[in-house]
Amino acid sequence: MTSLIPLATAQPETDWHAALRNLVTSPEALCALLELSPDALGWSASAMQQFPLRVPRSFVARMRAGDARDPLLLQVLAGAQEMQQVPGFTADPNGETGSANPHPGIIHKYRGRVLLIVTGSCAIHCRYCFRRHFPYADNQNGRSDWPAALAYIAADDSISEVILSGGDPLMASDQQLAELVQQVAGIPHVQRLRVHTRLPVVIPERVTEGLLRALTPPRLNSTLVVHSNHANEIDTEVAAAFRRMRGADITLLNQTVLLAGINDTADAQVALSERLFTAGALPYYLHLLDRVSGAAHFEVDRAQALALHRAMAARLPGYLLPRLVQEVPGAPSKLDVGGR
Ligand SMILES: *Cc1c(COP(=O)(O)O)cnc(C)c1O
Ligand code: SF4
Repeated sequence: MTSLIPLATAQPETDWHAALRNLVTSPEALCALLELSPDALGWSASAMQQFPLRVPRSFVARMRAGDARDPLLLQVLAGAQEMQQVPGFTADPNGETGSANPHPGIIHKYRGRVLLIVTGSCAIHCRYCFRRHFPYADNQNGRSDWPAALAYIAADDSISEVILSGGDPLMASDQQLAELVQQVAGIPHVQRLRVHTRLPVVIPERVTEGLLRALTPPRLNSTLVVHSNHANEIDTEVAAAFRRMRGADITLLNQTVLLAGINDTADAQVALSERLFTAGALPYYLHLLDRVSGAAHFEVDRAQALALHRAMAARLPGYLLPRLVQEVPGAPSKLDVGGR
């Protein structure tokens, strides 16, 4: 996640491009916006050298001013804990390099589904990100890499679903996505298109008419899995973006990472599920943290996670209870924690 892939330059100006040009990238600026003194905030410059601070202003606006423990702030600000080496926390916790990465831009771990890495860049840098050390330089998938990635998919007729991923695939332009999706739709054995993205949550203006057209080709079923970790992330603009996607006949799901100090209470999780549903998305997965180096301080242990999930089950209708899962390298799917 080291370099930004250039966005198409011939695009008409839109709000989301302006939001991207105007990201908060310095802790001092973040302090000023949140009315916090640098002493109250505290950060690690070396951690942010490895994986820079990067957060859209509208996301900062959803943080509580004056609160150094705000759950949105803690997702983006690097503390000194990130520099600690903790046994068991590695650069590639999910086994995404090697045989699962058969071709630049393709991750093929599960039967029937492949991930296509559209771009390595993101609008926000989440400190717990399991791909923060992924070798994007070898998987840049600029448009020149797409033909070979598409040929890989076309050559394997067990693949029925293509998942656009990244980085954040919606960093690509509407036109680039339209071209890519059109080619995916041209592969006869592909039935479903899925997009894993955080952009509709962090820059809701990204959900343009052009994007909706690009993601809904006539022949494919389209699902979009957004990534939101806390009810405070979902304000009226985000809810409006969700509604536009629902209006375009896109199935809308959410995945969450369970994060210590951010969303590790039943109250926080119940509020998130309820807010998601009100905004038009169903909770899909609640992930145990992937053990990526630099993120150990976010880990919630299994027993506590299971107890939390049981408490959620006791308070939510079944359709608002996400599956508590973990990624286990070499397993045929994500695994339910507790074996349920
Ligand atoms: C999560 C994931 C998928 C999709 O898994 P589902 O259980 O279908 O949501 C596909 N490929 C990879 C590499 C994944 O990590
Ligand atoms: S948006 Fe997703 S891929 Fe990008 S840094 Fe956050 S968690 Fe990682």
